[in-house]
Amino acid sequence: MIAIFLGPPGVGKGTQAEAAAKAHGWTHVSTGALLREELANGSELGVKANEYMSRGDLVPDEVMVEMVVSRVNQLGENEVMLLDGFPRTIAQAEEFNDKAPSGSIRVAVYYTASDDTLVSRLTGRGREDDKLDVAQHRLKVYRELTAPLVAWYRDLGILCEINAERSIEEIHADTVASIRGSLSPSTPGS
Ligand code: ADP
Repeated sequence: MIAIFLGPPGVGKGTQAEAAAKAHGWTHVSTGALLREELANGSELGVKANEYMSRGDLVPDEVMVEMVVSRVNQLGENEVMLLDGFPRTIAQAEEFNDKAPSGSIRVAVYYTASDDTLVSRLTGRGREDDKLDVAQHRLKVYRELTAPLVAWYRDLGILCEINAERSIEEIHADTVASIRGSLSPSTPGS
């Protein structure tokens, strides 16, 4: 099954996905990390994607959908995949819903925090795309292109909202509970 991790840049969803995966033997797939790996390997895809990433723009939908769908097609029967950083647009979400194994997307875990918190977390991270102006552009892109996914998943009845302005431990507990609650097909999003 697939749990989507949703929320603005800097909200800490990558940290939470990693911790939850480690604690429970789940698979963490971060599309940002996959792209950075491609770049580190010097692949054509990585070099192309980096043009968008370094500006704080989104990599084109076709590239991302193909990347994720090819990974999801290898999903084991009892595997739990925490998908962090995808989808990021309504177009990605729609295509992913069509192409992912039927019924596999069980929950969208959505993290919230104030803009002040986001900017201070982002600029403290030291990544190339976290410099203040790029980070602010990424927040703008998030608001315009990604934030509409919140209502989209809420309408599907699988949105689970988590306040990310608390301790890492409290957020972790809520994250694990929302994924556990969605493991049984009879209780989507609970
Ligand atoms: P953060 O955790 O701060 O949100 P990520 O590591 O998830 O950042 O993503 C870094 C960059 O990778 C994004 O700004 C974007 O350029 C690119 N990227 C990652 N996932 C996607 C996606 N699903 N669609 C388009 N671009 C993406």
